[in-house]
Amino acid sequence: MAFVITSACILEQAADCVTVCPVDCIELGEDQYLIDPDTCIDCGACVAACPVEAIYHEEDLLTEDLPFLEKAKTFYNIA
Ligand code: SF4
Repeated sequence: MAFVITSACILEQAADCVTVCPVDCIELGEDQYLIDPDTCIDCGACVAACPVEAIYHEEDLLTEDLPFLEKAKTFYNIA
């Protein structure tokens, strides 16, 4: 399980989440920041840091946001 960065990041890219992540698992992709699902420890620190509420636990993702989990897996080469 992991947290997932969704569409609001595409226009914001504030990067506050990168600063607070204790395991350094957030990187800038082509058009947004992305969380490595295999490294994320589910601490939730990034959720509070995000100024545009772009980050959700994967179990709480809306159906329309599910592609953002797949986007992160693709970015980090996770099957
Ligand atoms: Fe990093 Fe914690 Fe956010 Fe996972 S939940 S990306 S470990 S800050």
